Amino acid sequence: MNYEGQICRAPMERASFMLPVMVGCSYNRCKFCNLFRHLKYRELPMEQIEEELKRVAELGGNPKKIFLGDGNAFGLKTEHLMEILDKIHVYFPECYCINMDATVTSILRKAEEELELLYKNGVRHLYLGIESGLDDVLKFMEKDHDQEQAIAAIERIQKAGMLFDAHIMTGVAGKGRGTENAEALADFLNRTHPRHVVNFSMFLHKEVPLYRHIEDGTFVPADEVENLREERCLLEHLKGNEILYDGFHDFIEVRVKGTLPKDKERMLAKLDQVIAEYEHREPVYAYVRGECPDLEKCENHRSLWEMEDAKRMTV
Ligand code: SF4
Repeated sequence: MNYEGQICRAPMERASFMLPVMVGCSYNRCKFCNLFRHLKYRELPMEQIEEELKRVAELGGNPKKIFLGDGNAFGLKTEHLMEILDKIHVYFPECYCINMDATVTSILRKAEEELELLYKNGVRHLYLGIESGLDDVLKFMEKDHDQEQAIAAIERIQKAGMLFDAHIMTGVAGKGRGTENAEALADFLNRTHPRHVVNFSMFLHKEVPLYRHIEDGTFVPADEVENLREERCLLEHLKGNEILYDGFHDFIEVRVKGTLPKDKERMLAKLDQVIAEYEHREPVYAYVRGECPDLEKCENHRSLWEMEDAKRMTV
């Protein structure tokens, strides 16, 4: 299948069969995110989804775990999701685990019975972009939720039997607020009991609205040492049992991975070692070099900034 956009999923899903059911993200507004910004959101037709299932089945594939892409597959209407789940079970009767990304709003929009139905039909892990433990940061970044809404949504999916997995981002609160964010996020995660926590430490892209804030000084980025210290503080404060934690600082090629609390000391020691290596050097910022190669594909072939300005003028 021709895959449109960047393949993006949690590392725990790397062995799952990725079945695209939509292109892009139905929300597409988080200020820091460049994943699907150049794509026009659309749902893929059922025929195309079935073709892909058929292709994999004919090749002898027999996946037990499937990940539905892209940005917010849980946002599809429940009837449509059920149609997809039914087809999956026809082609792959041994598949017992269907996972996907979700936003808080997409969960809150579904009734309790819908959540139960989806669980009964194989939906297990939902990956939520929690990002920060601070409401003002969530608001600034234009996430579609606050803490209270996220807690309500997580309680609902857990009541239906599904597992909550958290995507977080060190650096999201900006310079000087890493510790504050880590403590607040630890409180949130201690209350909500995620199974997986994935830290995609924040990259600073030039083609996202956040970059304008960096240019005008309304957002000051943290350097990588502050991000590592933030992660250290978070790990120290996390209390859950059997949390699979995976933290990426790809810009400096550092990864901190383990099961909490069992591996906590080893993970903290690794962070201490990297912090000691970097803290006396010039600060390193995770700026993505170069321009987005797909910028010319943006809506109506206009640049992102033109689109942002046009939107502002119509509000
Ligand atoms: S919901 Fe996720 S994929 Fe969509 S814009 Fe926000 S961070 Fe990006």
